[in-house]
Amino acid sequence: MFRITCLLLICATCLRPGTSQEARSSSEIYEALEKLKVLGSVLYVAAHPDDENTRLITHLSRGMHLRTAYVSLTRGDGGQNLIGEELDEFLGAIRTQELQQARRIDGGIQYFSLANDFGYSKNDAETFRIWPRDSVMADLIRVVRTFKPDVIINRFDHRTSGRTHGHHTASAILGREAFLYCNSPLHQRELLKGTAPHLVQRLFFNTSYFFYGKERFDTMDKSHLYRLDVGDFYPLRGQSNNEIAARSRSMHKSQGFGINSSRGSSMEYFERLDAGKEAGHAGPFDGLDFSWNRINGGGTVSKVIEEVIAHFDFTQPWMSIPLLQRAEQYMEDLPDHDWKQIKLGEIRSIILDCAGIYTEAHVGMPIVSPGSRLEVHTECIARNPVRVTLKKIALPAFSYDTAFDLLLESNVAHFWKRPFKLDHEASLTAPFWLLNGRPDGYYPVATRDQRLLPELPRELYANLELELSGKMYSVRRDIVFKTDDPVLGEVKEPLDVLPPAVVVSEDPLYLANKGLVDCKVRIRANCEGCSVEVRFKLPEGMRSQPERQVLQFERAGEEQVLHFSLGGIPGNPERLELPVLIDETQAYFLKSIKYPHIQQQRVLTPAMLRVITSEIRTTKKRIAYIEGAGDYTDDALRKMGYEVHAFSADKLETISNKDFDVLLLGIRAFNTQEALKNGKNHFERFVSKGGKIIVQYNTTADLVTRDFAPAALTIGRGRVADERAAVRVIAPDHPVLHSPNVIRSSDFENWIQERGLYFPSEYAPAYEEILGMSDPGENELRSGLLVLRHGKGAFVYTSLAWFRQLRAGVPGAYRLFSNLVSF
Ligand SMILES: [Zn+2]
Repeated sequence: MFRITCLLLICATCLRPGTSQEARSSSEIYEALEKLKVLGSVLYVAAHPDDENTRLITHLSRGMHLRTAYVSLTRGDGGQNLIGEELDEFLGAIRTQELQQARRIDGGIQYFSLANDFGYSKNDAETFRIWPRDSVMADLIRVVRTFKPDVIINRFDHRTSGRTHGHHTASAILGREAFLYCNSPLHQRELLKGTAPHLVQRLFFNTSYFFYGKERFDTMDKSHLYRLDVGDFYPLRGQSNNEIAARSRSMHKSQGFGINSSRGSSMEYFERLDAGKEAGHAGPFDGLDFSWNRINGGGTVSKVIEEVIAHFDFTQPWMSIPLLQRAEQYMEDLPDHDWKQIKLGEIRSIILDCAGIYTEAHVGMPIVSPGSRLEVHTECIARNPVRVTLKKIALPAFSYDTAFDLLLESNVAHFWKRPFKLDHEASLTAPFWLLNGRPDGYYPVATRDQRLLPELPRELYANLELELSGKMYSVRRDIVFKTDDPVLGEVKEPLDVLPPAVVVSEDPLYLANKGLVDCKVRIRANCEGCSVEVRFKLPEGMRSQPERQVLQFERAGEEQVLHFSLGGIPGNPERLELPVLIDETQAYFLKSIKYPHIQQQRVLTPAMLRVITSEIRTTKKRIAYIEGAGDYTDDALRKMGYEVHAFSADKLETISNKDFDVLLLGIRAFNTQEALKNGKNHFERFVSKGGKIIVQYNTTADLVTRDFAPAALTIGRGRVADERAAVRVIAPDHPVLHSPNVIRSSDFENWIQERGLYFPSEYAPAYEEILGMSDPGENELRSGLLVLRHGKGAFVYTSLAWFRQLRAGVPGAYRLFSNLVSF
């Protein structure tokens, strides 16, 4: 009897965007053989996508052949997006993929916690007010106990609270605690169920000049630090470590972190945190055993691997198979050890690559849902002169398997296909952490075991069992969507499993008018010839006309728009969230995200209709709007009933007082619109003649001009990151707080993420300060809303985070923004 060994070929290093399933070249196989010799692992800990030191990760993984992982506590939802309009959870989905791509290049493995990147925080205390500390801690320990590193390296210093983003310091504090507690069986037993204690041998802080300043760091005494030159050159790749690292780092495209490559020696420094520096040790891993001697009897395996390497023939890699299979047998005979299974996985994968085996499973459609009919095609070929027999193809999702005893003729492909119907509830493939919504601090996810992975393993896959020289190998291939594109050539994308029908594209935010809302819901089918019933889950006393609607769909991809009139909307609370139900279960909103550098994402979030129920007064104003980096303020004004005309920045001169009362500039307009460079004269004229200009926040870097306001104003870096920070009214009688809406303290409740950013640091006394606010323990900032009366008009500079509040439907923000336009 053969023993079936399962090879899970789903590791980060095997897949590229579009889920490539290619075998490795001889140099890649050789590199894998070198890695087979090394039994050591390192976990790098930080807070965000882009915090990680890709030079170091590349060196550890590609140079030292250590198993190397990066755990980013968050998925980076809170940042800004330089390549598109996605923000918040959708940006987190992009950055999750960017990290995966980076790891495919540098050879690392990616982990996360379920902590949410809720936005900027000034220190760890503020971070831990929002993150549930025990849960994030338990996630990190779970990563440690799963990955089992010998060494943990923190990116940030746990002792310098307030000197960097609070998430950064928090990651360092938690990294240190994980080191201390991961080996104690009693620590957080409930939260850590299913894991076993693990002893980590060393803990470091990966220090750098950017914690000190370049000059100071270059000249300071570093004798207490360990050092590692990460500037290796890899002849097998024809590349320097830092060239690979630069490509990895440049995957953070949504943050604009593309960087130049560099070559040559490059030093990294480490402070040992769990003990003093050991005499005679220069590098952080000196004195640690990363060899096969770690396993009883491992020496024999090591000898055979050395022999394989010594005799490896780059033109005939299959000649190594007999020796490799001997090493495999020795490994199988070793006693149980964490490294045994890891190395068995590696060596089996090498054997298949030496045989030139290629397998794939694909279908001709990108999306399926329960009830879908699909034809699965497989291809299996051994391209080198080896005797391989196909024994079985299994598709567990369809409870199907079929036996073969087919000797594969060398370099002749075997194709097999069969139709299936997906008639059970296959798990949705959308980013799992978003399916239950996105609270401030921590994603609500039920499946604890896999929740620290970038994405869940797909349920639709094929298992091909192959016999090679008397041993059995099982290859798992995700079923992908495969097509050809006239420009791109062969395209392979993940096959997504979605619900039969989803909500798409319509803006879900409405303002109620006298207790009434007419709303639209757009439904897209993922099913063929099916019908679904749609309704809202309404609170007591509200009614919907019609109450429910049934839709018939002929084919997948079809969309239909439903109209509902909602009545009896109460004025209190000021905002309602009404779940959309499809067939009596919570419906999902579908957002597709597609960029060339990442795998396509179909993100599902709970579909809600959001209704602002409180009264928002307006006056009749004609508004010209020039977009900056993209915000929601123009949409919000239209919802309130204002007339808004969008202009491109180069049409500034055509915006006249005759046609418009207000000129509104989008966020970062002076950072992104070159054409505004010489706009000052026009602004001045517009205001003098009685117009009003409203400028939203701009950053200090890359301004097309610093001289745009009618009176001196310098943009600063002050921010109020606490969205609950108290707001003090400085100018209680100012009309902006009274007309047409009377602004009350309650209007500053339920703001999200932050109050404001890049507050002006200096400004002429002529500006009236309206509101004061500050983060806990800091000096009050009085420049979140500045009004300058000039000529017959007014110039308003406001660094409050309108783009966030208006999109989220914060009622008080709507009232105050209406006043900015109308007062
Ligand atoms: Zn960061």
